Amino acid sequence: MSKQRSRLVVLAGPTAVGKGTVAAAVRQDHPDVWISVSATTRPPRPGEENGVHYWFVSDAEFDKMIAEDNLLEWAVVHHSARYGTPRQPVELALASGRPAMLEIDLQGARQVRRTMPDALFVFLKPPSWEELVRRLVGRGTESAEERERRLVTAREELAAESEFDVTIVNHEVHAAAGELVALLKHSPTDL
Ligand code: 5GP
Repeated sequence: MSKQRSRLVVLAGPTAVGKGTVAAAVRQDHPDVWISVSATTRPPRPGEENGVHYWFVSDAEFDKMIAEDNLLEWAVVHHSARYGTPRQPVELALASGRPAMLEIDLQGARQVRRTMPDALFVFLKPPSWEELVRRLVGRGTESAEERERRLVTAREELAAESEFDVTIVNHEVHAAAGELVALLKHSPTDL
């Protein structure tokens, strides 16, 4: 019996809403779910590993991935580094029938919407704007200028909720991860 191709789930949402944390909870609690590892030109943060959190690549390597059409989507995020989804691993995961997910920014989600309209687009939303600001400041990994820039982006991104198929409110990380996994494990014909 041939395996049924799985349906891609694309998780997006405003900066600092906790997409990365929710994706990490899915990775930890549900190892059967395949999560794409993006390529990025930003340098690794302490504790980040090449091939686990991201593929950390040079500008020249990223240019080559674009030129060879190896990226499903890519974007410049926060006006700084480039981030993109390697195409082939996604294709392999979907063909194997594994629940498969991308955690990307809004610009990337819009590109995937054009090329893979059958994917399920999930918007992760903060409980409130105040909570989003608190999380952005609390993370403490960015400079004041960078935080300000990210808040401007976050306001625009929050307005995009209606473009998505489903919204999950990130009150608590494991609860949000559980809702996401329930969507990932629906068979394509159920949705
Ligand atoms: P960070 O630098 O904090 O890890 O991620 C910054 C932003 O880049 C997050 O909003 C994350 O969703 C986004 N991002 C990560 N990987 C990709 C990707 O492959 N494509 C796009 N378009 N955005 C990504």
